[in-house]
Amino acid sequence: MFLLYGIAGMLLTACKNKPETDMSNPFYSEYNTPFNVPPFEKIMAKHYMPAFEKGMADGRKEIEALAGNREKPTFENTIAALDKSGDLITRVSLVFFAQTSANTNDSLQNIEVEISPKLAAFNDEISLNPDLFKRVKSVYDNQDEFNLNPEQKFILENVYKRFVRAGANLNKQDQDTLRKINQELSVLGVKFNQNVLEETNSYKLFVEKDDLAGLPESLINSAAEVAKAAGREGKYAFTTQRPSIFPFLQYSQNRELRRELFNAYTNRGNNGNEFDNNKILSDIIRLRAQRARLLGYKTHSDYVLEPRMAKTPKNVFDLLDSLWEKAIPVAQNEVKEMQKIIDREGGKFRLEPSDWWYYAEKLRKQKYDLDDNELRPYFKLDNVREGVFTCANRLYGITFEPISGCPLPHPEAQAYEVKEADGSHTGVLYLDFHPRDSKRQGAWCGGYRNYHLVDGKPVTPVVTVVCNFTRPSGELPALLNLEEVETLFHEFGHALEGLFCKNQYNSSFIAWDFVELPSQIMEHWVTEPELLNVYARHYVTGEPIPAALVKKIDNSKYFNQGFINTELLAASLLDMAYYTLEPPAIVDIQSFEKEFFGKIGLIPEIVSRYRSTYFLHIIDGYDSGYYSYTWAAVLDNDAFEAFREKGVFDKTVAESFRRNILEKDGTMDAMQMYLNFRGREPQIEPLLRNRGLIPAVEN
Ligand SMILES: [Zn+2]
Repeated sequence: MFLLYGIAGMLLTACKNKPETDMSNPFYSEYNTPFNVPPFEKIMAKHYMPAFEKGMADGRKEIEALAGNREKPTFENTIAALDKSGDLITRVSLVFFAQTSANTNDSLQNIEVEISPKLAAFNDEISLNPDLFKRVKSVYDNQDEFNLNPEQKFILENVYKRFVRAGANLNKQDQDTLRKINQELSVLGVKFNQNVLEETNSYKLFVEKDDLAGLPESLINSAAEVAKAAGREGKYAFTTQRPSIFPFLQYSQNRELRRELFNAYTNRGNNGNEFDNNKILSDIIRLRAQRARLLGYKTHSDYVLEPRMAKTPKNVFDLLDSLWEKAIPVAQNEVKEMQKIIDREGGKFRLEPSDWWYYAEKLRKQKYDLDDNELRPYFKLDNVREGVFTCANRLYGITFEPISGCPLPHPEAQAYEVKEADGSHTGVLYLDFHPRDSKRQGAWCGGYRNYHLVDGKPVTPVVTVVCNFTRPSGELPALLNLEEVETLFHEFGHALEGLFCKNQYNSSFIAWDFVELPSQIMEHWVTEPELLNVYARHYVTGEPIPAALVKKIDNSKYFNQGFINTELLAASLLDMAYYTLEPPAIVDIQSFEKEFFGKIGLIPEIVSRYRSTYFLHIIDGYDSGYYSYTWAAVLDNDAFEAFREKGVFDKTVAESFRRNILEKDGTMDAMQMYLNFRGREPQIEPLLRNRGLIPAVEN
C-alpha cells in the first residue's frame, strides 16, 4: 500500500529533543510470540501513533543517509539499501491497516484520519527527494555496469518508474500541487471507507413474526439474535450484510420488504446525511484526474493502467465491451424466464431489481430442481475449511495445523501453521470468518507480515483471510451457500500467493490485473466432484454429498450467468467511466451513474454490483482496476485448462503453477510469468465456455 516498504536496520538512538522512547511499545522490540506474530493483546490504540511517528523519523534518517551518500551510486548502496529501509513503519502499518479493516473502533478510526495525510506526506517526501532520485536515476541509467540478475533488473526498472510516476521529474511548483492533492486524497479515501461502514452498521430492518414467510430457519434464528442484540427482543432484524440481505432477497415472500431492504443496501452512502459519499467520490475523481494530468497523462485510467497487463483504457474497454454484448442477451433471457413465473403466479407486475434473487431462486428450482437450501447442509464452514486445506495439500503437499496459544487479531479468528510436505515452516495463516460491526464489508486477504529476507535469511509470512460469512446460530453451525464457499477458496488463493512468495527484495511490483489469477483459479476446484466428495459432508449425518446433487450443481453451472456477468461488468465499466474522464472531471455522481448505465444499455432489472457511493474498490486500489476480475478471469479459466488436461490434482502442473506464478508474482513481467507456466498466451474461449457465453441463448 505504501511507497516505502520495509526499512530494516532499526535505529535505536533516541532523538535529543524528544521524550525518551517508550520501550513498552510492542512495536519497538521483538514480538516474542509463537512464530513472531504480532502480540495483539499487548497492542493498544495508544501505541500506534508514537510507532508511526518513530517509524517516519527513523525512515527520514535512513533516507537522508542514503541520499547524502558520497559514494558512487550502485544497485547495492541505492536500490537495495532503499529496499531494506523502513522496517518500523512497515511493521506498524501492516498491523494497523489490517486491524482498521477487520477489527476497528472509534480510537483506530480517529488515528486513521490523523495518520493518513501524514503517511501520504511522508511518501511524497521520499519520492520527491531530488538527491535520492538522482542516485536512483544514475543506477538506472548505468545499469549495464552492475551485472544485475533478472529480478534485480525488474526491481530497478520499477523503482525508477515508481519515482517518475510519483512526480520525481516535475518542477517544484507542480510537486507542491501534487503534494496537496495527495494530502486531500488520503483524507477523502479514509472518510469514504468509514462512511460505508457507518451506513452498513446503522441500518436494520426490524420485522414481526408474520413477515418471515419463506425464510429458512437459520436466517430467522440469526435475525432474532441480531434484534435481541439491538435491544428489541421478540422482533427480527435484517441487515445489509451479505449473509443477511441476500438470503432474505432469495426467500422472503414479502415483496415490499424485499424492496425496502434492497433500497437500503443500494443507497448506502447516498442518504444526504453526514455519511453521504457523493461529494467525497466526486472530489476523489476530480483530484485523481487532475493529478494524472499533472503527471503527463490524459486521464487517471491512462496513468493507472500503464504498468499493468492491460496497458491502456482501450484494451480494457475492448475486453469489457465484448463480454457486455454477450452477457446482456443472456440476462434478458433470464428476465423473460422469471417474468413467465411472475405471470403464471398471477403477479401483475414487472420484475424489479429487488425481485431478482427471489425469482432466480424459483427459476433454479424449476429448471434444475436445485435449491440453495439443499446445498447448505453440505457446506458446514468447518468442512469447507478442511476442503480448502485438502485441496492445497493435494496440489502442493502443504499441511495446516492449528496453533494453540497464538495471539489472534480478533478473538474469533483462528490461527494455523502452514508447513511444507517435508515439515518445514512456511508461514502462519489466520482465518476470520464472520461479520461484525468492527469489520468492513466483503472478503479479503491481507498480511500482518510479508515474506522478506533479513541478512539473507528468510522471514516467513503471516497472512490473514477475512470474510463476512453466515454465522452459526443457536444449535446450527455456520452453513455456507455456494457463493460463500467460492469466496473462501478465492481468498485462500491469495493467501497461497502470500505464503509461497520467495521475493529476494521487499519491493514487489505486482500487475494489479494479474493479482486475481491466483485467487480465481482456486474457485475452479470448489465443485470438482473429486474434492466435493471429500469435504461436502452433511453436517448432521456426515454423509458425503449425494451424486445426484453433484450432478445438479454441474447441470446448473450456467444458472444466472447473465445476471452475474452483467452486474460485474456494469460495475467494471462504471469504474472505467469515472476514471477516463479528463480534467476538470467534475461529476454529479447520481446523474452520471444514471446516464451512464442508460447509455451502455444496462437493463432496468439489474443494478450494478456496486453503486458508486459504496463502491469501496474504486477508492482502495481497484480504481480503474475493478476490470481486473474480468481480465484475470481470462487467465484463470485458461490456466485451469492446463490442470484439466493433465488431471485437476496433477502434481507437475501444480508445481509449475507454484514456481512460475505464485512464487514469482511481483518480481517479473506478468505475461512472461504466464508464458512460463502455460507455454503460450492466454485464450478467451475457456472463459466464454465456462460462463455460458458461447452457446446460443436458450429460448
Ligand atoms: Zn481477490
